[in-house]
Amino acid sequence: MKRYRFVADVHLFYVAKYLRALGYDTLYFYNIEDSKLLDLVYKEERVLLTRDKELFLTSERGCYLVKATDKIEQLREIVQRFSLGCANLFSRCIKDNEPLTSVDKEEILDRLPPAVAKTFKEFKRCPSCGRVYWQGTHFERMREFLLSICRRRYFYKFYPDRSSLVLR
Ligand SMILES: [Zn+2]
Repeated sequence: MKRYRFVADVHLFYVAKYLRALGYDTLYFYNIEDSKLLDLVYKEERVLLTRDKELFLTSERGCYLVKATDKIEQLREIVQRFSLGCANLFSRCIKDNEPLTSVDKEEILDRLPPAVAKTFKEFKRCPSCGRVYWQGTHFERMREFLLSICRRRYFYKFYPDRSSLVLR
């Protein structure tokens, strides 16, 4: 199956964060020109996810216009449209998109809350920002949420006719 890489426009911060949590390489910029976004599509073969119809119409290819307005519905729409899955859940830093690496507990012990240090054995770290991840309650909640999004029971209510979802 094709492994999509994305770039999300400024309106889709929430979507970008959760696509990263799902393990998909997703760029996001608070401030970037449309032409630079399109460069990323053409040069890096990323799919541009956008809410901006004008930008969508400007693009030659590789652009997807997100229909949903609610952020959770947007995530559902994209997961459905691109048949995304949970196989690489929590393999990237949510903050900056870097792939996470495993880290020994001893190395980061001084940075952990005591209860966390006592309870958990496995940790991952972002090589870019240094943020440490472990499978705590927040992780469990997010995991449940993302699994529910990826389950295919959801009826696609925006454009049930998939032919209208052709990537530009
Ligand atoms: Zn990071």
